[in-house]
Amino acid sequence: MSNDATYINADDTSEVTASAPPANMEGMAQTATAATTEQQVRGDVRHWLQNHWDPTMDPDQWLATVVDSGWAAPSWPTQWFGKGLDPTLTTAVIDEFRSVGAFGAGADKHNLWSNTVLTFGSDELKARHLRALLLGEIQMCLLYSEPGAGSDLAAAQTTGILDGDEFVVTGQKVWTSNGRHADYAFLIARTDWDVPKHRGLSFFFLPMKQTGVEVRPLRQATGDARFNEVFITEARVPAENLLGEMNKGWGVLQTALAYERAWMGEVVAKQRSNASGGDTGKSNNGAASARPKAAFTDGDAPTPDLSLVALAHSVGKSNDPMVRQSLMKLHLLVTVNDWNNRRGKAALTQGTSSPVVSLGKLAMSRILHDAGSLEKELLGAEGMIGGSDSPRSADATYSLLNAFFTSIGGGTDQIQRNIIGERILGLPKEPELDKNVAFREVRKASASSERSSNG
Ligand SMILES: Cc1cc2nc3c(=O)[nH]c(=O)nc-3n(C[C@H](O)[C@H](O)[C@H](O)COP(=O)(O)OP(=O)(O)OC[C@H]3O[C@@H](n4cnc5c(N)ncnc54)[C@H](O)[C@@H]3O)c2cc1C
Repeated sequence: MSNDATYINADDTSEVTASAPPANMEGMAQTATAATTEQQVRGDVRHWLQNHWDPTMDPDQWLATVVDSGWAAPSWPTQWFGKGLDPTLTTAVIDEFRSVGAFGAGADKHNLWSNTVLTFGSDELKARHLRALLLGEIQMCLLYSEPGAGSDLAAAQTTGILDGDEFVVTGQKVWTSNGRHADYAFLIARTDWDVPKHRGLSFFFLPMKQTGVEVRPLRQATGDARFNEVFITEARVPAENLLGEMNKGWGVLQTALAYERAWMGEVVAKQRSNASGGDTGKSNNGAASARPKAAFTDGDAPTPDLSLVALAHSVGKSNDPMVRQSLMKLHLLVTVNDWNNRRGKAALTQGTSSPVVSLGKLAMSRILHDAGSLEKELLGAEGMIGGSDSPRSADATYSLLNAFFTSIGGGTDQIQRNIIGERILGLPKEPELDKNVAFREVRKASASSERSSNG
């Protein structure tokens, strides 16, 4: 199984080049404003905020004001809710918003849904959905993974067949976060079985609320049911909801994944800021970003409490040399991860994605597992109690189990190691036996192959 076919490693575009660059990366800024300097932009934003920002305003009303002003996505074209600014100026806009405690800026950097639709959607699709996506009025989910295609996402077998001006989609997806609430999904489906696996996929904007789409929650070890199985039986999607060209969906996926990783970086940064904030547990991140109304989870997952120094004091173990060593190790991992995360984000703002993001994701997975174990260790016998008898033990149990979220979701730890080995350390690539074979001829991993290949 080749790991350049993975969901997280899918920015390896050697197989199929993305059909167009991400919206905020190049080419979208309009020449009239190309010469606008950072100083001018900062001045304009400050002036606008002075006239409009009101912390007591209803949050939905405020977000609508920001979106309609063009400051939510300033690097987008003016006809699509932007200001046509150079993409490098978005950070200055976010800074200015953050300095007064306002949210709503930076959608052109972080909003996976609207950026992907802006870049690849038809004008009809953009006119119908872009504003609602920016406002978080539409709930979305990602229909990528399948029982036989997770790490090897290019092996997806869900099939789309063109029927007049619609595609008819049949297949099974799994691990779909937010599936129960989603109005629409980003879906990858196979539209050509007679070419190698990367070349026969298309990317759709699928309406979820229709007969033919059945969502079944999956219960997790934590007790939550944050993701779902989705059974798709002859569901219909209008041809105008195709993002990019037919059979070029792998390229569209690269853009969507780049935005998803940027989003994950924000989540990671939020968790990290709790850790590095020592005993305060305060987050210093995200104030300027659009509220994550259309995020990936069913409900807000509790943010893990990484401020374990306070706990060590309170249970009288802060002088224990082994505990001190574990706390220090955690602190070092958090600090180094912070630096790597900044490197990865710097690369993203320059329009490239960096394998350093994999280092950060892998490190965060280790941090969360280590922190969960240490929290349990600090609690000692109390750590065996659950529920309301010991809320802090219940919290530790949750953290320990929920650490697997990061070590599997968005590409597993093993896949991150493959990426680091191949793309940072320059080790030989895994053999790709199915690279030049028509997908129909490739041995399939799942039982759904028969149904799909008949399509
Ligand atoms: C919290 C969470 C949220 C998620 N949300 C979504 C979502 O909204 N939409 C969606 O489509 N998917 C979602 N996923 C699915 C996620 O992307 C997949 O679970 C992940 O990519 C792994 O795929 P898999 O589960 O099929 O495991 P597999 O790919 O079957 O992997 C099984 C094991 O084999 C290892 N392995 C596989 N290939 C290799 C290789 N080449 N080299 C070394 N080891 C390898 C893996 O590391 C793993 O340990 C989510 C998952 C989680 C945990």
